[in-house]
Amino acid sequence: MDAGLDQAQSLYPFILTEEQEALRREIRSFAAREIAPHVMEWDEASVFPLTVTKKLGAMGLLGIIFPPELGGVGLSYVDYVLAIEELSAVDGSIGIIVASHNSLGTNHIFLFGNEEQKNKYVPRLASGEWLAAWALTEPGSGSDASSARTTAVKKGDRYVLNGTKTFITNGHYADVTVVIAVTDKSKGTHGLSAFIVEKGTKGFRPGKKENKLGLRASDTSELIFEDCEIPEENLLGAEGEGFVDAMRVLDGGRISIAALALGIGRGALDAALAYVKERRQFGKAIAEFQGIQWKLADMATELDAARLLTQRAAVLKDAGRKVTRESSMAKLFAGEVAVSICNDAVQLFGGYGFIKDYPAEKYYRDVKLCTIGEGTSEIQRLVIARQLLGKP
Ligand SMILES: Cc1cc2nc3c(=O)[nH]c(=O)nc-3n(C[C@H](O)[C@H](O)[C@H](O)COP(=O)(O)OP(=O)(O)OC[C@H]3O[C@@H](n4cnc5c(N)ncnc54)[C@H](O)[C@@H]3O)c2cc1C
Repeated sequence: MDAGLDQAQSLYPFILTEEQEALRREIRSFAAREIAPHVMEWDEASVFPLTVTKKLGAMGLLGIIFPPELGGVGLSYVDYVLAIEELSAVDGSIGIIVASHNSLGTNHIFLFGNEEQKNKYVPRLASGEWLAAWALTEPGSGSDASSARTTAVKKGDRYVLNGTKTFITNGHYADVTVVIAVTDKSKGTHGLSAFIVEKGTKGFRPGKKENKLGLRASDTSELIFEDCEIPEENLLGAEGEGFVDAMRVLDGGRISIAALALGIGRGALDAALAYVKERRQFGKAIAEFQGIQWKLADMATELDAARLLTQRAAVLKDAGRKVTRESSMAKLFAGEVAVSICNDAVQLFGGYGFIKDYPAEKYYRDVKLCTIGEGTSEIQRLVIARQLLGKP
């Protein structure tokens, strides 16, 4: 490699390091072999790809951002974005499973857990032996997450959890779930705390498994807590700081949802590019029409702009900077343009864009989550505006 590019990691997406090229090749060949042949079958039957998640664990992708001493592979957020994009270009469901596991559930324990908690949970999660979920949303509180009603009441050396979480990614399959619950209602955003709840804990069970528009191979479930007792050592971070910590976790999580959008958008663009060269109307390939070319040019330009914003957030995150504004900008822009790109892809496929034998319709369905999950586009605008106006 060019000596001037030794530190080239931060130059992605302009130039990939040899390691990044190798990572991309490895994920592309894995996705082509193990994911692509099953995408529609899993989508139609809403099959959670448990065998694939185990293999992703063996490849290190379930511990990609965690240090080797805790069983991870110690790669950067820049590499993580690349990995999520590659997986999501083939199947967004795999992208969201990996993203939620890494940047929400496991990362909350990694960032805010004490040494004992980190040593107990992160190695098993990073290796893929265990899968993580992260439960903030409730039926009555989504955007306004601090109005959660799930309670955690201290009784002796235990906390007793009661309430319902909704729309939780990996909910049915997670071995470990980080749950945000109210410990002192009078303290507002400083009255919520985070807890680690293990699968099989008495009083804790997954409820309704959602039947979704897209990302149908990922699991989105209700979680029910009925007098669920957990030991006090499962309090994660300081009591009362669970919501504030959760917002920090989302700063990183939103980068991975931007990467999910990049992947789905790129998958749709690649599919459209191949199709317009093959499809002939008026005696020539439709790629010959200027109207089609302009659409393709706009799609590619928007996607690259989204990738730049996403990589900026990732580079700053790797540098240890606060990325609240940058991750929200990346997530907002990438989510919105990816929806538009997938819409254009369906249009370029014409009637075949509406038919399940062709790939465009699935990208179109899957991508919509990117303007909703981990804070809607409207909430990203609120976060960005607050940062601009210097509000807390
Ligand atoms: C597939 C999927 C996976 C998910 N995974 C998880 C997960 O793993 N963990 C988890 O905790 N949650 C998860 N969620 C929940 C997700 O984060 C929420 O759905 C999202 O934050 C929106 O909340 P809501 O659905 O209650 O919508 P609401 O908050 O009810 O919003 C409804 C509409 O009102 C708008 N709105 C609300 N407030 C304002 C405002 N102040 N100004 C302007 N507009 C506003 C919203 O933007 C939206 O358009 C998931 C959701 C889905 C669909």
